[in-house]
Amino acid sequence: MGLKRAFARHVSHRRRSLAKSSIVALVFFILFTGITLFLINHQRTQYQRTVEQRTEKFTLENLDSLTEIMQQLMPLTERSCASSQPNITYQAAFNSGVRSFLLVKNGFAYCSSATGDMMLALKNIYPEIDPRQTRDLKLQQGTPLVPGKPAVAVWLRHPGEENTGVLATLDINLMPYLLFASRDARTPDIAIILDDRALTTFSPNLLPVSQLPNDQADRLAIPGTPMTILFYNETLTPNDIRLTLLGSLVLSLMIGILCYYMLLLRQSPERALMRGIKRNEFFIEYQPVFHTRKDAVAGLEALIRWQHPIEGRIPPDLFIPYAESEGLIVPLTRHLFRLIAEDVPRLATALPKGAKLGLNISPSHLSAPSFHQDVYELLAQLPGDYFTLVFEITERGMVEEANALAEFDWLHQQGIEIAVDDFGTGHSALIYLERFTMDYLKIDRGFVNTIGQDTVTAPVLDAVISLAKKLKMQTVAEGVETAEQLHFLQERDVNFMQGYYFSKPLSIDNFVTFCNSQQVVDYQAQKA
Ligand code: C2E
Ligand code: CA
Ligand code: CA
Repeated sequence: MGLKRAFARHVSHRRRSLAKSSIVALVFFILFTGITLFLINHQRTQYQRTVEQRTEKFTLENLDSLTEIMQQLMPLTERSCASSQPNITYQAAFNSGVRSFLLVKNGFAYCSSATGDMMLALKNIYPEIDPRQTRDLKLQQGTPLVPGKPAVAVWLRHPGEENTGVLATLDINLMPYLLFASRDARTPDIAIILDDRALTTFSPNLLPVSQLPNDQADRLAIPGTPMTILFYNETLTPNDIRLTLLGSLVLSLMIGILCYYMLLLRQSPERALMRGIKRNEFFIEYQPVFHTRKDAVAGLEALIRWQHPIEGRIPPDLFIPYAESEGLIVPLTRHLFRLIAEDVPRLATALPKGAKLGLNISPSHLSAPSFHQDVYELLAQLPGDYFTLVFEITERGMVEEANALAEFDWLHQQGIEIAVDDFGTGHSALIYLERFTMDYLKIDRGFVNTIGQDTVTAPVLDAVISLAKKLKMQTVAEGVETAEQLHFLQERDVNFMQGYYFSKPLSIDNFVTFCNSQQVVDYQAQKA
């Protein structure tokens, strides 16, 4: 979990993800709110246009059919009320919206569809109506029979006679409007204007035009009549805006959180590692290993490096244990094999045939089902038996692998040598070392460090060296940094050494240059 913690420490990752997801959420919020309000507005406007068109059509059709009926009734003005009344009563009853028909002769209403015979001057009951006009339309606060209820009076003059004609009073029923207005925000308030007065959905009485609200309203003039209808349309109500804002806020929060977790997931160490393999962020450095007595390069240890595009160099001490614990070590080691295979032709120009090529192998890889196949593939990519492969396996974990013994035998059959890495740092019982057949024992840097120091662990180094001799294993000292350490190890016949005293791990180019300037162990000559 080392890398995970290491990555978690990079708070900048989280902060960057947070900033990115906040921007995504904000953009979403703005777009969603904008588009939703635009759509609501658009839909409302279309609906209102439809209402207006239908109102116009409905009004015109009604006025036309009313005019037709009044024209049919016109000849009745020549006759007595008694003979005409059944006809006008019938027409008033069967034409919806008509409150009553009056027959007018010489300025006097003498017959009503509602009450029959009467004799009232027209100017007394409908003072606004001008009986000289061919057709006149007026709003009236009430009629003689229904005084409190506004109505529309429609006058149609007899073609030849000035003060004679038919008068209809209409109930303009705004009831559906009033009913719906409270339920459906889309139903606009309306005002029907004739001359200087208006019948509205918001007042039971007629209102002077000057008292109508100043709000923006759509005006619809009914062609061929003095009638104008105002629609107090509201495309976006405060409620629409509130609900839309709330909806987009919730959605953008959800999207922001989702985005944040997706970004974090994308940046998870596992993914970073697998992506690193795909994007070729790994490469190898080679540290020369020296033959102590010959004072010549005997081989090398390959050490993997990770150059992360954002994090920079990530030390193997962080990502190797992480890869081991997360089951990613097998793909990582396979990748290492591929990288080595790529470098091998150049390594062969630096080192002679038989040189030791040390690779670090994680103990858990030994028991992976693909282990043999992975090794076969590596061997197939290497040129013949040019290099002697040395698998360095840490003491820790090695003994936990039940099949280690069998695997070591198998590796030996493939011509691969085995080194116990980091010897002395694990908790293995020494008895295991007897049972395992291994070729090299790598003395951990920690012990080499104690040389020349008067510490409690200093004598352990001597014990380790003599143990290796008893087990007939060759010794490799790691982390040799000083001449003093070198001399100490020389005196005790440690076979190989490696450390900054000789060279740090080098890039392939530097390694080739280094080897060309050094003595190199000639294994072929040795054999001969
Ligand atoms: P290791 O196998 O013990 O590798 C030796 C480590 O000691 C390397 O560290 C090397 O750079 C460092 N070193 C060599 N000489 C000196 C010296 O004189 N002084 C000091 N202070 N250090 C020296 P590095 O490369 O950071 O690797 C650390 C560990 O990561 C390795 O320890 C090994 O366990 C693991 N590792 C590195 N490469 C691989 C790999 O390809 N596969 C696996 N499974 N593990 C690897
Ligand atoms: Ca090693
Ligand atoms: Ca080591």
